Amino acid sequence: MYGKLLLKAPAKINLYLEVGPRRGDGYHRVRTVLQAVEWFDLVELELEPGSRGIHLEVEGEAPSGEDNLCHRAARLFLETAGISARVRIRLTKEIPVAAGLGGGSSDAAAVLRGLEHLSGAGLGKRELFRLASRLGSDVPFFLVGGTALGEGRGEVVTPVEQAPPFPVVLVNPGKGLSTSEVYRRFDLLPPAEPPAGGPRPLLDSLAAGDAAGAAAHLYNALQDAACALLPELVGLLEAACRSGALGALVSGSGPTVFMLAPGPEEAELLASRMGEAAPLVRVSRFCSHGVVIGEPAP
Ligand code: ATP
Repeated sequence: MYGKLLLKAPAKINLYLEVGPRRGDGYHRVRTVLQAVEWFDLVELELEPGSRGIHLEVEGEAPSGEDNLCHRAARLFLETAGISARVRIRLTKEIPVAAGLGGGSSDAAAVLRGLEHLSGAGLGKRELFRLASRLGSDVPFFLVGGTALGEGRGEVVTPVEQAPPFPVVLVNPGKGLSTSEVYRRFDLLPPAEPPAGGPRPLLDSLAAGDAAGAAAHLYNALQDAACALLPELVGLLEAACRSGALGALVSGSGPTVFMLAPGPEEAELLASRMGEAAPLVRVSRFCSHGVVIGEPAP
């Protein structure tokens, strides 16, 4: 099966992120609660038989060459499936880059899912997950989406009871943070004890639809390191509390700060108040899926 396909690739936030010591392979062991949110990159894919090569067109801010995770995902898929074909990818970036929102990982998952669908290669779920984890720690999550627990270096993903579509405000200071730099700074800080119950109280609050309870159990071990590298994040977190957020946290390695709001109207109000503090503010909500196949491209 060849043809065209459009996929929607959501962003993620980390509602909980516990970071253990650095492992022998250089990665840190993590335990994280990942949540997909409604902010989508668009990935258009076309698979043509008879010729070879990967052609990537990027609209928006992201690398346009072989370094792009879409390109890497396509190459890995074609090599693994033993397919000789031409892949055209048109990526429309909506999710800010290097923002702690997993945009590049989501794009890569979309390419894997899309090529599996278009090519009929039948690699299967297990193999797709294996390829996803080779591309990056967050990529497997986007094949699952919704609310999930990530362990290992984040790539061992277990779906948990889905959170309701809680409204959330995402605030980005308009600057990127390098994940590896944030981890290096984390290694220099004194070790912090994670919450006694681990992610369980948070997961229970989410499952009960208790947004205030969930807000009370947000946790990110990387937050202090992200704030040390970008001190204006402290101001954003303080402004969130003054502006009516139930709770606020840096997502992943940052710098995007997410804020839980009691309801959709409060989220709009919170966003308008935060508009003075940051250049990029977005009202969103939790979503219950990962990458999805949208309408076929014309
Ligand atoms: P991570 O925590 O995995 O670093 P992030 O959410 O903070 O992710 P991304 O937007 O995924 O950040 O980008 C991380 C890096 O990957 C950037 O430095 C960017 O240059 C590179 N990159 C490669 N492909 C993409 C892509 N399709 N979209 C965004 N960034 C990409």
